[in-house]
Amino acid sequence: MNQPAGEKADKFVMDFDTSQRNDRPPQEYYDTIKAKFAEERELRLGYRPPGTEMYRDLDGAMAELERDPYADGWVEREPIDDTDSEGVEVLFIGGGFSALLTSARLRQKGVESIRIVERGADVGGTWYWNRYPGVACDVVSYDYLPLLDEMDYVPSRHYAGGAEILGHCQAIARKYDLYDLAVFQTTVTSTIWDAEAQRWNVTTDRGDKMHAKFVVCANGTLAKPRLARIDGMETFKGRSFHTSRWDYDFTGEDLEKLSNVRVGIIGTGASAVQIIPNLGANAKEVYVFQRTPSSIDVRDDWETKDEWAAKLEPGWQSKRRAKIVSKLRAQADRKGQLRGGITREEKIQRQENNNIDHMMRIHKRIDETVEDPTTADALKPWYMLMCKRPCFHNDYLPTYNRPNVHLVDTHGAGITEIGEKGPIFDGVEYEVDLLIYATGFEVQQTGIYNQIIGENGVDLNDKYADGIRTMFGIHTAGFPNMFIMGGYQASFQFNLTDLLQVQGDHISSCIDHARTHQYDTIDVTHDAEEQWVQEVISHRGKTTRNAECTPGYYNFEGQENRRQDGNYNGGFPAYIDRISEVEAAMSEHFIFTKG
Ligand code: NDP
Repeated sequence: MNQPAGEKADKFVMDFDTSQRNDRPPQEYYDTIKAKFAEERELRLGYRPPGTEMYRDLDGAMAELERDPYADGWVEREPIDDTDSEGVEVLFIGGGFSALLTSARLRQKGVESIRIVERGADVGGTWYWNRYPGVACDVVSYDYLPLLDEMDYVPSRHYAGGAEILGHCQAIARKYDLYDLAVFQTTVTSTIWDAEAQRWNVTTDRGDKMHAKFVVCANGTLAKPRLARIDGMETFKGRSFHTSRWDYDFTGEDLEKLSNVRVGIIGTGASAVQIIPNLGANAKEVYVFQRTPSSIDVRDDWETKDEWAAKLEPGWQSKRRAKIVSKLRAQADRKGQLRGGITREEKIQRQENNNIDHMMRIHKRIDETVEDPTTADALKPWYMLMCKRPCFHNDYLPTYNRPNVHLVDTHGAGITEIGEKGPIFDGVEYEVDLLIYATGFEVQQTGIYNQIIGENGVDLNDKYADGIRTMFGIHTAGFPNMFIMGGYQASFQFNLTDLLQVQGDHISSCIDHARTHQYDTIDVTHDAEEQWVQEVISHRGKTTRNAECTPGYYNFEGQENRRQDGNYNGGFPAYIDRISEVEAAMSEHFIFTKG
């Protein structure tokens, strides 16, 4: 495909308006489809245990699935104990993009003592763990990969593959000397504020006792793999693994060992969509166990053209990012103006109709691609776009035309039983040799996978018991010198690194401010925190959209939740503006202490 000049920096500014179409069907057409969306949602809710109770960790009888297949063995080391010293200046819990891009900014501001503590055997986070065949990011690489200006790097493709992204993470760690103090294969177990020393005491599962002045919870948004709770899963006699722990020893590097293997895969989310075409091309038989189909759109990928890359001027990525934000601002302004001309109900109806037009285009593509009409029908998503994470793939739908690929559509019920030979549905036990769990990840709400205890012995979990309380999703009062990345109460972005960069820049500004003024601690005021909580609440639940969506991790699996326990919906430009306002008046929003 050709690479258009200045292409698609704004691909994910979801803004389509088909309301001016001459051939627009009557409103009853849209109402009928909306009613079908509601019916499909109700069907799914009827089958499910409430919310996330239907999922479980990779523990107990399934603990073996948690094992890291990518590490070159287990590296022994002596536990670190630096509690008799000041310890490090900044400690990151997690070594993915959050830690890497924030560390780069901190280095630029002269912070020397940075330690990453990471569960994997290297940096990379998501891109360390997700190495399944076909793994790639379908956010445009020129936007998604952070620090391209600083790294003087142009990704090789429009959509970068997982290996290239992992390589970029490692290159950042090397450039900014982040390997020096990093510890890998190490999980933080507790993070406790020592008021006297004005340091965080961080302990790990390797017996470490570490001191840090600042702690950044950079442990990822979707970092903890989860399994569906399925009766009998531990009795399955074949091989099984989760998509984020791909066993290439079993499958072969190019899946060449699967030619005589019957494979089952449970789940059809973004991971499965990238994996299934590869299984179809290589495995003897493939059984896809579907509960809800994903929406699959065209993926316009291409190799980066040398001539295009050669013309990029220094600072090109920052300019692209700025352009996206201005586009979002213009979109918000346009929506504001529109509000004047039509009623709120009309506006919502127009948006919904546009969305339905889009989804019917997705349906049409399925009909045009998938030969068997029953399979084609089963692959049609009946929900509004963005109820679930939209997917982009050119080979996924055609894969169902292969004779060795079988869609087992559970029509919302999901797989609830696994026998010794394989998943059971509708009285049939599907015999497979390999069973892949593509059942996703737990959503990080608050930055806590370890015990975090702040001032006066308050546990962060207890503080959040009546609802999450933060400013920007980053600061929470009573937990001085701690910053949280990627959790709720922040402005979720389809291109997550846009958000992480804004958060990382802000965190490094806060740390820099404290250092410049020789403050020992920085903590958000209760007032500033309360204002933000109220702002989050004021923007949530304005429409019934979330509640009307088919269940999934975007809407808390269809469960009711407190209005403050979610993303900030005031828009990304507003999120950035609020952060700038706070940075311009630090003493009004933070308490600083010295000496
Ligand atoms: P998801 O949470 O998106 O998908 C989990 C899947 O498992 C869903 O299809 C779910 O069905 C299904 N499922 C759960 N339990 C059962 C059951 N008992 N029987 C049958 N099916 C079941 O996880 P993914 O790993 O696919 O993706 C997670 C996120 O990671 C993505 O949304 C995206 O943000 C990111 N990602 C991005 C990629 C990219 O850039 N292209 C690639 C991969 C991941 P149901 O829908 O009914 O709940």
